[in-house]
Amino acid sequence: MTLPVWVALLLCAASAAAAALAARRVGANGEGEKRPKAPGIALESTLREVAATIAARPSRPSDSLGAIVSIIAKAVSADLCAFLLFEEASGELVTQPGAYGLSSGQEGSLYRLPLNNDTSSSVRVFKTGLSFLTGDAQSDPRVISHYVKLWKCHSLMVVPLTLEGKRVGVLRVGSFQKDFFSAEHLRFVELLAEEAVVILGGALLTQKLRETNQRLEELNRLKDEFVSTVSHEFKTPLTSIKGFATVMLEGSPGPINADQRKFLTIIQNACDRLTMLVSELLDISRLEAGVRMEMQEVSLEEMLRVSQENLQWQAESRGIRLSLELRDSLPPIQGDPRWLRQVVDNLLSNAIKFTPKGGSVCMRACLQGDAVEVTVEDTGVGIAPEDQPHIFQKFYRARSQAPLNAPGTGLGLAIAKTVVEKHGGRLWFDSQPNRGSRFYFVLPTAEAAARMQRV
Ligand code: ADP
Repeated sequence: MTLPVWVALLLCAASAAAAALAARRVGANGEGEKRPKAPGIALESTLREVAATIAARPSRPSDSLGAIVSIIAKAVSADLCAFLLFEEASGELVTQPGAYGLSSGQEGSLYRLPLNNDTSSSVRVFKTGLSFLTGDAQSDPRVISHYVKLWKCHSLMVVPLTLEGKRVGVLRVGSFQKDFFSAEHLRFVELLAEEAVVILGGALLTQKLRETNQRLEELNRLKDEFVSTVSHEFKTPLTSIKGFATVMLEGSPGPINADQRKFLTIIQNACDRLTMLVSELLDISRLEAGVRMEMQEVSLEEMLRVSQENLQWQAESRGIRLSLELRDSLPPIQGDPRWLRQVVDNLLSNAIKFTPKGGSVCMRACLQGDAVEVTVEDTGVGIAPEDQPHIFQKFYRARSQAPLNAPGTGLGLAIAKTVVEKHGGRLWFDSQPNRGSRFYFVLPTAEAAARMQRV
């Protein structure tokens, strides 16, 4: 069996680390350093084991940390061993899951130390980068006695973990016996930590990315909740404002003059724009939250006809010809009619909105193999090449349409694309400035969708 390249690289890193250690052990005069022998500790084989452990669990950094502490503990016959990594968000050193000698759930197994707690030996080691060794932590005033007593720890070593010049945490190694660790043990653990942290770098980075990701997801959830709550709260007062403006325009409470009519019409239009914004904000947050499509058989043909009828007056009032061409008789598709209607309405109303007076808009639909293809074509202002990559982004409105001053939120196409994709379809466009645009979408026929579900 051949090893993946990156596993081989990790193992090479372990060998290189061991070679570096051997080199460091030999002094300038070629003689080995004088230090007491700590029996049974072998850096090279321990590092190899660490590298192999990380290689075996590439996607589970917390598992790797748990396995590594037990390898280190066994190498120095320790009873306790834990990584405490610095968590930037809280400014604390946090004991990593899987600490050796502590069962999960035991008091202190998820021990956190704020960096302002200078009575802690771990915090001092983290801040100064100087290792710490004591033969009896329980009676040493430089150690917080509560936890060492709880864990029955007497001998204690704490060494810094530094990655690319930056302190990332500490490694704590303990024994139930007094005066168990020598200076040689401490040096061994320091070297091990120095090399292991390099090998661990990728795993630590993954962990950090995961934490950042979780935080971003949480912020995103809060943002969605905020948008959704505010939008709901907007709906009721908006309906009242628009309702009362309409009643006054109809003259029910009494006659109004020309200025009053003008102002009330402005209020009504502003309400329509706000209502549109609120409803699109709610739609996009529902889609992003993963709203379920209520699938049923839908006749696209009928949907296109209804949409054409509904928007005919708008096209006529702007002097635009609106037509519908159906080449084939279309089979039903499987979809959520409420959301699909929104796709069709959005493409059609955009085509009308972005086409100057005298232009034309044509909707076509045909069968293309197992899918129905719908095209909405206009002879309007088109979309400039520099705007084209962005128009499906939320809130993006092309600069090229600015002179038209068409109302809108920049959310319609983002919604339409998401809806079509949720139906297993695709939405795209081509466009030339001042020549017009063509928006297309395809959706699988109901029969094809059912066939795909059976596979
Ligand atoms: P909105 O229409 O509310 O601005 P959309 O998301 O529906 O938002 O569209 C985003 C942008 O894409 C529009 O502002 C416009 O610049 C451009 N666009 C969409 N459809 C067309 C079209 N048929 N012709 C020209 N530009 C278009």
